Amino acid sequence: MNYHVMTLFPEMIETTLGYSITGRAMENGIINLYTENIRDYSKNKTHHVDDYIYGGGSGMLIQAEPVWLCYQDVLKKTGSRNVRTLYMSPQGRTFDQSMARALSHNEDIIFLCGHYEGIDERAIELINPVHVSIGDFVLTGGELPAIVMMDAITRMIPGALGSDDSAVYESFYDGLLEYPQYTRPRVYEGLEVPEVLLSGNHNLVEKWRYEKSLERTKERRPDMYEKYIVNKHLK
Ligand code: SAM
Repeated sequence: MNYHVMTLFPEMIETTLGYSITGRAMENGIINLYTENIRDYSKNKTHHVDDYIYGGGSGMLIQAEPVWLCYQDVLKKTGSRNVRTLYMSPQGRTFDQSMARALSHNEDIIFLCGHYEGIDERAIELINPVHVSIGDFVLTGGELPAIVMMDAITRMIPGALGSDDSAVYESFYDGLLEYPQYTRPRVYEGLEVPEVLLSGNHNLVEKWRYEKSLERTKERRPDMYEKYIVNKHLK
């Protein structure tokens, strides 16, 4: 998987993805990260990329030209047909686990990160990306959303986690939240690890975990629980 990030702050992306699972995935060649600084495509003497907004209003907007030139360059570099271009935008469809899984099958993903008040609409029209949001709130730039998405997508790529089972049993993977988990010691502050987890009986452990997942999802995310019950025809 090749991630290409169009941004005004490449270091923010490079530094953060260099840690933990994504860092290891880069070392192992499971993912490759390429950042492209939109500012490098500015033809202004001062390399500024923002300007006032036509019609008035507060704030500045990233100009269309550096974004469009940068995009064309990135597109050439991908060289593959299986490319997805995503514009980080609070106006987009909300990112979730199923989107992460679907995106993990692409060869190349281009992330376009906005800043200031966003990007001149003509660049968006020319690029025609999929608009994706990480939630109903407004952030300063698209860098954090891109990092969040790359992290979640990477976890879906075979070999990125220590064991591929890890992703299968995580919250959201099968439409349920994950069951409670424990590690040593067996008793902590008077609280004991549930007996069944020490039984060595794999079937009983699986049954307990499934029941706890159902219980937890019903209590914490009734919306997800209802969907799960309907999808699995359990009603
Ligand atoms: N004026 C824009 C609007 O109201 O839709 C918001 C601009 S925001 C301050 C600057 C940039 O941050 C956006 O262009 C986008 O790339 C990114 N951004 C902000 N919130 C986001 C969110 N919830 N999800 C994804 N990207 C977001």
